[in-house]
Amino acid sequence: MARKTTRPVTAKKKKTATVKASAGRVKADSKTAQGSAPQMPASDIAEAFRRFQKASPAPKTELLYSNPFTLLVAVVLSAQATDAGVNRATPALFSAADTPEMMVKLGLVKVTDFIKTIGLYRNKAKNLVALSQKLIAEHGGEVPNSREALEELPGVGRKTANVVLNVIFDQPTIAVDTHIFRVGNRTGMAPGKDPLTVELKLAQVIPEKYMMHAHHWLILHGRYTCIARRPLCEKCVIADLCRWPGKATLAA
Ligand code: SF4
Repeated sequence: MARKTTRPVTAKKKKTATVKASAGRVKADSKTAQGSAPQMPASDIAEAFRRFQKASPAPKTELLYSNPFTLLVAVVLSAQATDAGVNRATPALFSAADTPEMMVKLGLVKVTDFIKTIGLYRNKAKNLVALSQKLIAEHGGEVPNSREALEELPGVGRKTANVVLNVIFDQPTIAVDTHIFRVGNRTGMAPGKDPLTVELKLAQVIPEKYMMHAHHWLILHGRYTCIARRPLCEKCVIADLCRWPGKATLAA
């Protein structure tokens, strides 16, 4: 089973920024969430990813999984739930069923019971059984490697497909979740009013050599440094490049 090998993208450095008081942060977020932050220049985006790579050369998903099917299941379960919450439930589920055939055999009632600590669990349990049946019927029990086939599976949308394509099939996709949406907008790397706009813009502006790991660098940056409520600008490795108006730059 994959282990948690990632760490927050922060590093000891001279403090270059802090954050404004709460009212200033809220105002800055309501402005940038509309996709109105100034666009970060290409040279600064390249520098930001150079620093992300230096701080964490090979970032990995924090979801626990042991094969493509269990990764797919974990990502489906992570919709509107935290990775930590999913990881508390999946070891028991995966020891009972780590293939589509075993998931179907386990049945809806038991699957529901295994995941009942996760939000929207009733619907997710139905989707897990249904997607397992579809994998068996149409893909020989294997997880398909195309976006179209993945998005036809119950409970699988563009975001889930992007994660599976990136983590299992080494495709340079970016799944825009709440963290990446926030980081893209705050920093000015990819201002956009909706996740698809942010995703397409990120794919345009991130240098190709960083695309494979960009998804995890941005998600981990949002999860551990560019935190929604109170970003840790004072520890941020890209504070001098970030365009967020809620940041207060300190004198050199
Ligand atoms: S990217 Fe860094 S400097 Fe910008 S808001 Fe987030 S934590 Fe603060």
